[in-house]
Amino acid sequence: MPVKKISILGATGSVGQSTAQVILAQPELFDIQAVTANSNAELLAQQAIKLKAKQAVVADSSAYQILKESLSGTGIEASCGRQALLEAASAPCDLVMAAIVGFAGLEPIMKAIGSGANVALANKEPLVAAGALVMEAAKKNGCHILPVDSEHNAIFQVFDEGQRRGIERLILTASGGPFRTWTTEQMATATLEQAVTHPNWSMGHKISVDSATLMNKALEVIEAHYLFNMDADKIDVVIHPQSIIHSMVAYEDGSILAQMGAPDMQTPIAYCLGWPDRIRTPGLKLDLKKLIKLDLEPVDTEKFPAIGLAYSCLEKGAAACVAFNAANEVAVEAFLERKTGFTDIVETVRKVFDTIEFVPLETLDDIVSFDGAVRTLAKSYMNNDQHRKKVYLA
Ligand code: NAD
Ligand code: MG
Repeated sequence: MPVKKISILGATGSVGQSTAQVILAQPELFDIQAVTANSNAELLAQQAIKLKAKQAVVADSSAYQILKESLSGTGIEASCGRQALLEAASAPCDLVMAAIVGFAGLEPIMKAIGSGANVALANKEPLVAAGALVMEAAKKNGCHILPVDSEHNAIFQVFDEGQRRGIERLILTASGGPFRTWTTEQMATATLEQAVTHPNWSMGHKISVDSATLMNKALEVIEAHYLFNMDADKIDVVIHPQSIIHSMVAYEDGSILAQMGAPDMQTPIAYCLGWPDRIRTPGLKLDLKKLIKLDLEPVDTEKFPAIGLAYSCLEKGAAACVAFNAANEVAVEAFLERKTGFTDIVETVRKVFDTIEFVPLETLDDIVSFDGAVRTLAKSYMNNDQHRKKVYLA
């Protein structure tokens, strides 16, 4: 593989750090342009030095002093603020790893696409909120969106575009999260610690909570719709507690192609970093001699209403998807701050979904301003709701 010039947005996060591990196992294959983070300047500086990056950016300006001091004498350029982040995202590169969490990653992704780079996309929320815009911009600029999310990466690996007409369904697998076997009553008492302890994957807090509500899978249904241009009624979700089959594509002749691997993000990350070649990872590998069981079971959509809401969003259109994501981000943040109960998260999303007016959205500005309006509404529900569940502490 020829040397690839790469920037990593959200380098200090869970996906960002796994990306750095894959790169550092074979640094001769990569030339790192920019690494960015929100505020963890110390870790970012260490990463920038190890990865021999040209520049490091913290979005939060209050972290700049530490970044600057930590990088002094290294020759690595330090900068800060949202504008610096957007500039770093558009610095000339072959590939940008988009691993910021949340809607905050949308504009950086659009900048990366605008620069003509391919985008390895972990950051699913922007695709949920602005899937059509992102995919159209990628097409217009001739760049590939390479899915990092393990399910979509699995589908990408077995989705034969040349045989699209023969593809009947996409089947997303879901581990079921930490509360798969809990009752709704038990879930109402879930603590933050219980919600962020995922049975198979080690991830950032926001996506861990999303995995516990199954909101993560709900977001992934919408993500799959946009990434693979598939109608909602051709996307299924199945529970697979072992997280070994990462997802599947069903063809009309009855063949179902699956991608398997250990639950380690280094595999889909390496696939995207190497694409169209394959590269090594120092991560976990599946030992089939030790493989015990592959269970598949239907999702309990009554216990996990987020899944049904995702299909309703795809029926209603783009504004519903923006609202779905924005309300969830607000509610998860409140839960992470111990200001609301676990089952309030999806209830808030449903309440927003039931009351919001779904306006037509065309431009990035339309989406950003609608996202802001939904956040205000979701916050007002969270602050005023008399029926809010008790917050359970560990
Ligand atoms: P994380 O919280 O561990 O890391 C997030 C990164 O984004 C950090 O580097 C942080 O500094 C940066 N960041 C946060 N807010 C920012 C802002 N406003 N501006 C600029 N930078 C900001 O998150 P993660 O678990 O690595 O997940 C990242 C994305 O990848 C999410 O969208 C998640 O859904 C998706 N994803 C993660 C995994 C996983 O295994 N962690 C798997 C699939 C998809
Ligand atoms: Mg996933």
